[in-house]
Amino acid sequence: MPKPNDYAILFDASHCTGCRACQVACKQWNDLPGEATVNTGSYENPPSLSSMTWLRMKYTEGVDRGEVFWDFTRDSCMHCSSAACVEACPTGAVGYREGGVVTVDQDWCIGCRNCVQACPYDAIHYDEEKGVVDKCTLCYDRVSNGLEPACVKACPTGALHSGRYAEMKALAEQRLAALKGAGYDQANVYGLAEMGGTHVLYVLLKHPSAYGLPVGPVTEKRKVASGWLSAGIAAAVLGFAGARWIAERREEVGGER
Ligand code: SF4
Ligand code: SF4
Ligand code: SF4
Repeated sequence: MPKPNDYAILFDASHCTGCRACQVACKQWNDLPGEATVNTGSYENPPSLSSMTWLRMKYTEGVDRGEVFWDFTRDSCMHCSSAACVEACPTGAVGYREGGVVTVDQDWCIGCRNCVQACPYDAIHYDEEKGVVDKCTLCYDRVSNGLEPACVKACPTGALHSGRYAEMKALAEQRLAALKGAGYDQANVYGLAEMGGTHVLYVLLKHPSAYGLPVGPVTEKRKVASGWLSAGIAAAVLGFAGARWIAERREEVGGER
């Protein structure tokens, strides 16, 4: 579970207008290039995350009892406490940082893509040019210097908040009570139990599946080789020196939390 003092983000779907200022701010702060995209018949754009797009807003559009609805949710790394990407990485390149943030140390990434396959949120991606993976850092460079993540700072409606985990959890519970009181019976908080508890929490107006979110994903359910099994395979390929290097690295990052 996240620790009370860990870094966290709260996304409140009931305040989101789908303006995508957060998406643009993420690109700007992290110096990520734009990418060619396609029209999928929705205002949602681009159609998926990539090594160049670490955050996008997901639009769910439809008609319910004759009324058109448009639901928005955030699509990015959840900074899981039991992160499938960390479990699957044979070299310890993906690991936990101070404050529960999950980041990639590209110097240690061998491009095996185990983490890409393991993530239930499709939030970590392989960069073909660089030969390594990349994803949202929870703006560790900002939060560790007392600043809000760029996406949170850019949000004009108050749909995004950041702070310590205990504060964000309390705010989520407060919003949930207010929404239930206003008649939103299906309102819920997502991320309290998923993946050992995530450092990005969502206040949703509907069941998570209505937004296309995986329901109740746990690390153990991912059908990938565990980090140590992958490490064994990688070590067999790399030989004795490689095996020692991987074992030392896994021990090093295992001790960071
Ligand atoms: S959302 Fe995916 S990439 Fe992010 S920490 Fe969880 S498993 Fe890793
Ligand atoms: S926390 Fe930073 S890196 Fe993550 S989505 Fe927000 S702006 Fe992008
Ligand atoms: S900036 Fe705020 S209101 Fe706009 S899409 Fe992002 S979370 Fe929603």
